[in-house]
Amino acid sequence: MLFKLEDIIQNSMLQDFSLGTIIYVLVSIIFGRDFSAYYYLLALVLAALPDIDFIPYIIFRKRLSLVTHRSVHYPLVFFGVSLIVFTRNPYLGILSLALFANHFVADSFSATEYPTGIRWFFPFSKKSWYILQGKIYKLTEAQQNEQLDKRKNFWNTKGEKRTALWEIMVRLGALTLNGVIFAGIAIASITFLLLRS
Ligand SMILES: [Zn+2]
Repeated sequence: MLFKLEDIIQNSMLQDFSLGTIIYVLVSIIFGRDFSAYYYLLALVLAALPDIDFIPYIIFRKRLSLVTHRSVHYPLVFFGVSLIVFTRNPYLGILSLALFANHFVADSFSATEYPTGIRWFFPFSKKSWYILQGKIYKLTEAQQNEQLDKRKNFWNTKGEKRTALWEIMVRLGALTLNGVIFAGIAIASITFLLLRS
C-alpha cells in the first residue's frame, strides 16, 4: 500500500483544516480578536496554500510525468511572506506564520513509500528532511531524485491509475478516529470563539 492509513492523517487536507482552525482560534484569542468570517476563510486558505501547485500538478502530471508537486513547497519562502505581512498586519503575519509552520512540520512526517522530505532551508540548501517513526532523515538532492525515480517505477509497475479523484482522495485522507477527534476539537474551538465574540 502506497499510503499507510495512520500516515495519511499526518498531512492530510482534513488535518490541515482542523489544525488551521485551532491555530486561527488560538492566535485570535492571543490578539484579542473576535471571530471574523473573512479571517477564518483566509486562515483555511493559508493552511493549504503551500500546496497551491497541486492544481497545475493534477492537470499536467500525466503529460509531464510528474510524481509530486513541490514547485513552491519551501518553508523559508512562506515564512518570508509572513514576515512582510507582519510589518503591515502583525495579527495576520503571526497567523500565517503559525499556519505555514504547522503545514510544513506536518508534511515533514513522511507519509509516502519513498519520502522526498521538505527542503527546509531552500534557497540556501537543496537538502531535505523528513521524520519517520521518530527519527529524522536528511536527503541530498541526488537522494531526493532517487526517491522520485523509485516512486515513479513503483507506480508504473503497480499500474497505478492515479486518476484525479485518486490524487484528491489521497490528500483528503481517510476519516480515521484521529481525524475525527481533530475535527471535533476544531469545531469546538471555533464555536468557543464565536460565542465569545
Ligand atoms: Zn504540503
